[in-house]
Amino acid sequence: MNESRPSSMSAFWMPFTNNRDFKASPRLLVSAEGMYYKDVDGNRILDGTAGLWCVPCGHAQPRITQAVSEMVGQLDFAPTFQMGHPAAFDLAEQLMDYTGHKFGHVFYTNSGSEAVDTALKMALAYHKARGEGGRTRLIGRERGYHGVGFGGLSVGGIGNNRKSFGPLLPGVDHLPHTHNLQKNAFSRGEPDFGAELADELERLVTLHDASTIAAVIIEPVSGSTGVLVPPKGYLKRLREICDKHGILLIFDEVITGFGRLTTPFASDYFGVEPDMMTTAKGLTNGVVPMGAVFSKRFIHDAFMDAPPGIELFHGYTYSGHPLACAAGIATLQVFREQGVIENARAMQAYFEDALHSLRGLPHVIDLRSIGLVAGIELEPIAGKPGARAYAAFKQAFADGILIRVTGDIIALSPPLILDRQHIDELFGKLANVLNNLD
Ligand code: PMP
Repeated sequence: MNESRPSSMSAFWMPFTNNRDFKASPRLLVSAEGMYYKDVDGNRILDGTAGLWCVPCGHAQPRITQAVSEMVGQLDFAPTFQMGHPAAFDLAEQLMDYTGHKFGHVFYTNSGSEAVDTALKMALAYHKARGEGGRTRLIGRERGYHGVGFGGLSVGGIGNNRKSFGPLLPGVDHLPHTHNLQKNAFSRGEPDFGAELADELERLVTLHDASTIAAVIIEPVSGSTGVLVPPKGYLKRLREICDKHGILLIFDEVITGFGRLTTPFASDYFGVEPDMMTTAKGLTNGVVPMGAVFSKRFIHDAFMDAPPGIELFHGYTYSGHPLACAAGIATLQVFREQGVIENARAMQAYFEDALHSLRGLPHVIDLRSIGLVAGIELEPIAGKPGARAYAAFKQAFADGILIRVTGDIIALSPPLILDRQHIDELFGKLANVLNNLD
């Protein structure tokens, strides 16, 4: 295993990275186990973000490593166009069990971005298959993140991600985001104010007419834009409006899936069922890239009941890759055998209390959390948005904890296998960083 520094770092154009700054002071990870990474200098770094929100079971889970190793020796690749392999079917059935049979079908992709674009295409094709081809409009939300494909960018609501890429998809609208520091700061779990913002969907229906609207897509809890927890009653209201007007509701659960909120999915936490759900990340514990779209039976049935020639003409070479399926099956096994969600539930209150112990530290203007995900909002430095949190990120890494920052918000989403000592270490070191921040 190569644990030394690379001879050159110029060729790799790094994703979502301040490339100039990174290369001046790089952070290089060389191994990982359980709750910790090790960097190239041999320092242990507590993983406060489950990689990129994608390692709920902790690193180097032997069962997953073994399953992937066995599969690579047995079936390195198999197409899933007009043929298949057992693991792809087994995983799909097990995912239906895991979600309590609320969904009927699962479509495999390789990432969250692909899952989102797949779900949007499914929504459009579903209406068309039923003879409602006029329903082409898609509705996302401000401050929503749905990956980087053109579909996901279009329904996403992050200006910086969108601004360099032209007009994007036509016929897209956005609901307002629900973040409200004046009314909801320092809330625990779902904030009290803002459910009425869901009624903005009625306004869009009036504006465009329901017969033109295919789907609404939102993250139940926005992750990448700083852990924005929905106000009490908001999601239920959205569901009601969608039902009233025949609009499909898609939950993007790429971050909130697989136990992050102490339930299998966020839809279980909030008791609101979407028509489709996108996932990725925790699906394979981050070991092999994979995403998926879960769809209700009636969506799949619309294609099966349609006249011959109508199908969902869509798929990826690596949809249902054998290694990803092996990793997915083993991940579900780890969830069951090691009580991963049960542990998340047991740690939730301690995690929330530890988070709120940061109240009053310099620059902290909000603390919010739900399940095992937390956001810490800092007062921006005047004229330099994001600079304060970025400085915190760099110092935290130097002090041995991995945190994630977006703008001036720190996001925490540790592996769900953590114990109280990890929580103490994470928040203890973070308090130290915040206390010494300019
Ligand atoms: N949707 C959501 C809600 C996400 O958080 C992300 C990634 N953070 C994506 C989609 C995109 O996933 P990927 O990076 O795997 O394409």
